[in-house]
Amino acid sequence: MDDNYRTAVDAAAIFSETDLRGCITYVNQQFCSISGYSREELLGANHRILNSGLHEPTFFLDMWRALAAGRVWKGEICNRAKDGSLYWVDSTMVPLIDPHTNKVRKYVSIRFDVTEKRQLLHTLQWRVGHDVLTGLPNRAYLSDLLNQALAFSRRERIPLAVCMLDLDGFKAVNDGYGHATGDLLLMEVAQRLQSILRGGDAVARLSGDEFVLILRHIEGRQQLHAALQRILHALAAPYVVREHALRLSASIGVTLFPQDDEDADALVRHADQAMYVAKQQGRNRYHVFDVSQALELKATHQTVARVRRALRQGELCLHYQPKVNMRSGQIIGFEALLRWMHPSKGPVPPGEFLPLVEQTDLIVELGEWVIEQALAQLQQWQLSGRDWSLSVNIAARQLQRGDFAERLARLLERHPGVDPARLDLEIVESVAIDNLPRVGRCLDACRALGVRFSLDDFGTGYSSLSYLKRLPAQTIKIDKSFVRDILHDHDDLALTTAVIGLAQAFGRAVVAEGVESVEQGRMLMDLGCELAQGYGIARPMAQAQVASWAAAWRQPPEWR
Ligand code: C2E
Ligand code: MG
Ligand code: MG
Repeated sequence: MDDNYRTAVDAAAIFSETDLRGCITYVNQQFCSISGYSREELLGANHRILNSGLHEPTFFLDMWRALAAGRVWKGEICNRAKDGSLYWVDSTMVPLIDPHTNKVRKYVSIRFDVTEKRQLLHTLQWRVGHDVLTGLPNRAYLSDLLNQALAFSRRERIPLAVCMLDLDGFKAVNDGYGHATGDLLLMEVAQRLQSILRGGDAVARLSGDEFVLILRHIEGRQQLHAALQRILHALAAPYVVREHALRLSASIGVTLFPQDDEDADALVRHADQAMYVAKQQGRNRYHVFDVSQALELKATHQTVARVRRALRQGELCLHYQPKVNMRSGQIIGFEALLRWMHPSKGPVPPGEFLPLVEQTDLIVELGEWVIEQALAQLQQWQLSGRDWSLSVNIAARQLQRGDFAERLARLLERHPGVDPARLDLEIVESVAIDNLPRVGRCLDACRALGVRFSLDDFGTGYSSLSYLKRLPAQTIKIDKSFVRDILHDHDDLALTTAVIGLAQAFGRAVVAEGVESVEQGRMLMDLGCELAQGYGIARPMAQAQVASWAAAWRQPPEWR
């Protein structure tokens, strides 16, 4: 290179030459200035002297491969200066070819200092992922951190705690002392949190006074308790901000992976829900998310949604189980029992879905549908000259609605041909537990409409005499669990005897449920109960079978 060019290059760029082994054979002044080494130190040294250790080995391997093949290589390299500081250079490496041998003779490199640009980029990148006030990772970066931590925990089978921390009373500080003080306080809080955390743990600021902590070293409840107590303690210690003495506490919600086996978003949401519980329970404390409760809730939601669809799509129907007088053989009526004709599972018994539905308002809609079906059935029976009654089961939630009687009245109006006395509503005593006077009034209003009531599953609940006195049920149904063992179990026999006596004393009819054998029926008749329902008489049957069953039914001779 002639001197003119060299002057120009020296003014513009960091310039060096190396031999084929990578040893430096020439450097200009700019090279010395930026690297901090003297020309003497550099000449003859291998270029590796500047290696920052920041690049993967393959980075240089690719570079040398290109150069050895006679190709120009361009790229940004991070070097380490003599004092240990890092600098970035935008480099162009050129292999010079000997025109005689056609082989690479040496390498020259021209570099430009891009450290400032790099730093700016780094700052910008940092800002994207951090909260400027506290220097903590922000919401965007938290999601990366949490995903990494979660992937690590899954791989290494290490538990993980995700905590949502919300300061108690921070708003009061902002309002009382101004936002500048609030900001300083947040910085102090961030510092305290950071100083408590251990390697591998992380804390991020979500917004305002909300922080998320990722704790890795949690092997059990004991350790979790200790870690969270340390955090609560540290934050509760007095603060002095701008000469104001301030106090603060925090509420923490925690969820534990892998017990709570969800994705990052759900874990944060669960921690958040638990945090609200901690707040409600009085602040300055932590609360652990209840996984099994949440799973149950989810299952309930799914089942209820599925039943709602079943109702819309006509997958529900009623089956009918007769109630008879064992002595005379007369059919008194039927009990309508809900069946779900599931398209793939087949008939699903109500015990598998009704208890969940009964926790929601769907039971009200479903219950009205059942009454509607029952009334239509009664109408049909009445038209064909049958004087049977029909019982429907009424869930507590449905009955406890303030407008039950009015809604029932409207349903009855839609079936003017039906004698309301044929409709029997089966209720359990526990419906009255919460509010006997109100339920009592509701039942009175229904009775005024002419419908009748039975106390179902009698003996399994409180069976309090005051309920029996106050609830206007004409009939008491002895629960099948007593009838089942009536022949072998003295207590069940005694209870059944007592229930029958009670019914007679209060002037109520009594029906035995779950009569499966002739002997059970015989025994019940001896005790004074002649009305019965059970597999021994007939299983619940589809509507289409009722007529032929009724035509064929004869009571066993032992009952006559
Ligand atoms: P429940 O009202 O006490 O109905 C009697 C249950 O005992 C029925 O079960 C019936 O099939 C069964 N059962 C009848 N005789 C015998 C017997 O001899 N042996 C045995 N082991 N069981 C017998 P199912 O149909 O599975 O209904 C269970 C419960 O679901 C009912 O108990 C009732 O509480 C509820 N349920 C049924 N349909 C409805 C409905 O439409 N609405 C509401 N709210 N609840 C309903
Ligand atoms: Mg019943
Ligand atoms: Mg029952």
